[in-house]
Amino acid sequence: MVSKDLNSLWCDAAINDAAPREKLSSDIETDVAIIGAGFSGLWTAYYLKKLIPNSQVVIIDANQVGFGASGRNGGWCSGFLPNSIDELADTHGRELAIEMYRQSFATLDEIETVLVNESIDCDFHRGGTICGATNSVQVERVTSEIFKFHQFGFTDDDIRQLSQSEVERRINVSNIQLASYTPHCAVTHPAKLVNGLARVVEQLGVKIYENSPVTQYQSGSIQTNHAICRAQMIIRATEGFTPSIKTHRRTLAPLYSYMIATSPLTERQLQILGWENRETYHDARNMIIYCQLTADKRIAFGGRGAPYHFASRTKPSYDAHPLIHEKICNSMREIFKKIGDVDITHKWGGPLGVPRNWSPSVNFDARTGLGSLGGYVGDGVAASNLAARTMAHLIADDNHELTHLAWVNNQSRKWEVEPLRYFGINGLLKISESIDSYESKTNRPDRIRTKILETFLG
Ligand SMILES: Cc1cc2nc3c(=O)[nH]c(=O)nc-3n(C[C@H](O)[C@H](O)[C@H](O)COP(=O)(O)OP(=O)(O)OC[C@H]3O[C@@H](n4cnc5c(N)ncnc54)[C@H](O)[C@@H]3O)c2cc1C
Repeated sequence: MVSKDLNSLWCDAAINDAAPREKLSSDIETDVAIIGAGFSGLWTAYYLKKLIPNSQVVIIDANQVGFGASGRNGGWCSGFLPNSIDELADTHGRELAIEMYRQSFATLDEIETVLVNESIDCDFHRGGTICGATNSVQVERVTSEIFKFHQFGFTDDDIRQLSQSEVERRINVSNIQLASYTPHCAVTHPAKLVNGLARVVEQLGVKIYENSPVTQYQSGSIQTNHAICRAQMIIRATEGFTPSIKTHRRTLAPLYSYMIATSPLTERQLQILGWENRETYHDARNMIIYCQLTADKRIAFGGRGAPYHFASRTKPSYDAHPLIHEKICNSMREIFKKIGDVDITHKWGGPLGVPRNWSPSVNFDARTGLGSLGGYVGDGVAASNLAARTMAHLIADDNHELTHLAWVNNQSRKWEVEPLRYFGINGLLKISESIDSYESKTNRPDRIRTKILETFLG
């Protein structure tokens, strides 16, 4: 059940009518216990039950299924990772970088197959993604991204350039000079997906406990506020909320992303816009914006850039941010100005998880039975499926090809102590925003601040 306090578009649909699930109120024993009932936790349970059908698997969530980013996101199910292919090659070598992207692109087929096989209806539609360039610096960024992928052996079938008129024929957005197009992205209704997955894993025999916050865990046992769960293997899938667990205060930093949704567009607005293939759309600015056209023809539009909260705090009151929501409305109106005014009906937000090295990972130690997956930096809808499949094979210890991917046991160092973390992250966000503003005003790259940004991210 997605929190009713959020004015999220995805909470509107009649999909959250399941009765609240049981709390973990007395001690239990199991083979595998997963902390967190978002995409990472649910997909892990799904693949574990497929690989080892007689294993006993439980999921324990502090809130409800889909309470976290999985029930609130922008619905981009994208094969693109938060790390570019050349960043991956610098860290892990060319072959592992290519394999990581090859598996990530193939994940969309995998997800689509499961949705069909398990009858999960979540408005999944594979229209690809367009990344527009609105100034000459963004033109350079978009064309070099295409060039890089081609240098690594990917082709126009994976990512290619669209001229201004080709973009406008697909989505008639404003101020575009050119764009890239990739088919490796789908749109989905995230809350329908996460609730559908929960139903499927329960049918496979997985027990989900809700409203049972885990306060700490170590090899063999999990402590919740009311009971203990003893398990041979414990997998943490808590993403942006990870700092709520003792000993993980500095493992992932929660950064907030915010969204708005419009009322359904009129026939006239849709005629102006085109957008018949419902590609997801973003542009090549540093401070990410992202949007999709929903199945009921609303624009769901999101953006990052909200300040990081001291000591990695997450609170329900942070799920709305008037200033950032206003900026997101302005960006949406600027991009879609050709369709005139449109009502904003929903505003919401939530935390995503960012590791110190800005790279997601799948970690499992067979000796202790402890594992974790995530740190997707806002790109976890598809990546959580690949991460969970990888985790299931690590637990099954079957030497599957996925267990050799670059992100396996590539654990980041911890974040800095406060107040360094607070000033570092917020400084970085300010720099990103000021680079965008400089580039759009001058049409020139902001080399000095870009260098500072790269140094911090490195
Ligand atoms: C506004 C927004 C828009 C986004 N848009 C996109 C997008 O379009 N495409 C994309 O790929 N990604 C997007 N993301 C990111 C994506 O949603 C996440 O990467 C993904 O959902 C992570 O899934 P998860 O299961 O790892 O974590 P979550 O979905 O956050 O789940 C974590 C779960 O752990 C539980 N939990 C936390 N702490 C504890 C504890 N101590 N004890 C027990 N349970 C606990 C929480 O209650 C929660 O249910 C977006 C994120 C946000 C916030």
